[in-house]
Amino acid sequence: MKVEGCPGCTSAKFQSVGRSGTAFIVTINAEKFEQPAYEIRHCDNCGIYYKSHILNETDLSRYYQINDFMKWENDRLFPTEQAILAVLSRLPEHSKILDYGCNTGRLMSYMLDRHHCFGVEINGEAAKIATQRGVTILSETELAIGFDAIVLCDVFEHLVEPTSVLQYLCQFLKPKGLLLLCTGNADAAAGKPDLANFWYFRTVEHLCMLSRTHAKFLSQKLGLNLIDWQEMSHYQYGWLELLRQHTQNFAYRQFHIYRSPFWMPILKLIPMMKRAENWTVPPLFTCTKDHALVVFENHANC
Ligand SMILES: [Zn+2]
Repeated sequence: MKVEGCPGCTSAKFQSVGRSGTAFIVTINAEKFEQPAYEIRHCDNCGIYYKSHILNETDLSRYYQINDFMKWENDRLFPTEQAILAVLSRLPEHSKILDYGCNTGRLMSYMLDRHHCFGVEINGEAAKIATQRGVTILSETELAIGFDAIVLCDVFEHLVEPTSVLQYLCQFLKPKGLLLLCTGNADAAAGKPDLANFWYFRTVEHLCMLSRTHAKFLSQKLGLNLIDWQEMSHYQYGWLELLRQHTQNFAYRQFHIYRSPFWMPILKLIPMMKRAENWTVPPLFTCTKDHALVVFENHANC
């Protein structure tokens, strides 16, 4: 499906960014979902980065229906989650927190002994697990109770119309309430050379990426103060994996993006590096600070 207009502000004015992304297929339980070939667009008006082509509405909905929601379960907290919990733990005890798209309630489960934790989750099975964990699942019509903080962790990038969703949610923020947005940051250096083929956009369900400019746009549009911007990696790896990812990506870029007359002959002499010449897409590069946690604060009188 071709994306008509910017998902952040509906503007039709954009700049195409770098190389295009090739089509690819994702298979879940023998069902195939094809991400059409796409380019990444940078909106002239609101600064969001977005795919020009995405799965159509039916396929996207089906994809989420059969996707394994347990894939995000992990014994350890991701660095992004640690950053969110650090902000929430500074709120007064018994604050009301809403995790929008809470999945199995994993994140909120760490705050249950301090705050009143609520979640919105469209996947019934995931919501059931969240309830068992002690998170109170709310329907969209039950949000009027008001919240001291609303969290969207790894949710923004999945939204077809993120600004509309955020505008809707902000009406349920209490005065001085916080909106926490944790998502991919298109300003990050690792994605810059080839954003369309960066791992974040090679994920079929990721439709858009935040930038500092877009965070400022949201601040104005939502009528909230932007009070914090932190950059981090979503994942934590040991030094060996860090070395592997950096080395492979360095080699890939010399062959396919920079076509460096200095490095290419040298890399061809090293068997491990030479392999990168035949790679058609970049190797995984998930170890850099390509995520941002943005914190907005509601005005005191609203
Ligand atoms: Zn826009």
